[in-house]
Amino acid sequence: MKIVLKNLTKKFPNRNKKAGGDVIAVNNFDFEIPDGTLVGLLGPSGCGKSTTLNLISGLETPTEGSIFFGEDDVTKLPPENRGVGLVFQSYALYPHLTVFKNIQFPLENLRGSEKLTKEEMEKRVNEAAKLVQIDMLLERKPSELSGGQQQRVAIARALVKMPRVLLLDEPLSNLDARLRLQTREEIRRIQKETNITTVFVTHDQDEAMSISDIIVVMKDGMVQQIGKPQEVYDNPVNLFVAKFLGTPPINVFEGEVKENKLFINNEAVLDIKNVDNRKVFVAIRPEGFIPSSSGALTCNLGRLEVMGRDVSIVSTHPSSLNDTIRSIVNSESIVSENLKEVKFDLKPNKVYIFDHDTEERIIFEV
Ligand code: ATP
Repeated sequence: MKIVLKNLTKKFPNRNKKAGGDVIAVNNFDFEIPDGTLVGLLGPSGCGKSTTLNLISGLETPTEGSIFFGEDDVTKLPPENRGVGLVFQSYALYPHLTVFKNIQFPLENLRGSEKLTKEEMEKRVNEAAKLVQIDMLLERKPSELSGGQQQRVAIARALVKMPRVLLLDEPLSNLDARLRLQTREEIRRIQKETNITTVFVTHDQDEAMSISDIIVVMKDGMVQQIGKPQEVYDNPVNLFVAKFLGTPPINVFEGEVKENKLFINNEAVLDIKNVDNRKVFVAIRPEGFIPSSSGALTCNLGRLEVMGRDVSIVSTHPSSLNDTIRSIVNSESIVSENLKEVKFDLKPNKVYIFDHDTEERIIFEV
């Protein structure tokens, strides 16, 4: 089931009368989510991710715009008539009911032509439980489950009604680091097996990048960029997106283009074509540095962090906007920690420049 968002806008009245105006939580969101894809909605706190999800689910009504599931205009439908499965950060399971009863609960409320017999319900519960691999825990109460298992019950409960669309709002936030990794892979597997169009909200870029077919990066209610995770990482449209994606984060410097050369401080770090003389922000991915005794960019060496296969060189530079610069190199190109300075050549495809005022990307040739 494809989901179409047309000029979707949500404004909330500003309770702070002095500040005036409405809070625009979602601003003119236009997007068609292809059938069967997993879309990661990504952005910092307050950027409008949850509001977008709530608009799709029907928990919020848009101020402007419309939402279609396939060809059906669902904009005015209440949540219970949209055919959505919802999973939130808190599992919200009924503590006094067994896992089986918790999963069955949404089916008990079905009426009319949708009403199911006891046997049909049992079959559906067993199928959903099997899908999320908790079929051996059906007789337990939620308090007898781990956090990860409880979240699986919540997912099974969302799936049992065979929703047209699955909506997940920060479903992994309450899990510890290892379980987060495991459960996000589980979510991906379940989504692939069921082929349900899924929207997944997270502020964690690693999480979104690793399981999404498409990511949507948002800021202040506005969509910044939509694309496959690798495409967005490789081709950020603006400085915000470049900074938001990647661990360790991208390294940003004040820079200048002068006569077809890119300068950081007084060093020409790259020959570039097709850009007029101007001030820019230069952003370099951690994997874009090549240590070299004759390198173009000189940084003050801080320390080395050995991470097995790779080494992270931590340094500083007067033109850097980050407190420290992190460059990831393989352990063979290790530099001596006794040196005061470290010099780098740069990989041109890992260097981005952005307009100093608009922070929009400037495409250059080498
Ligand atoms: P988080 O990751 O912190 O949950 P988010 O990206 O999901 O953030 P939203 O919850 O969608 O962000 O909120 C977007 C903006 O709308 C925020 O500025 C928030 O304060 C505001 N907002 C959300 N709900 C309401 C409401 N009911 N009334 C007024 N403002 C609201």
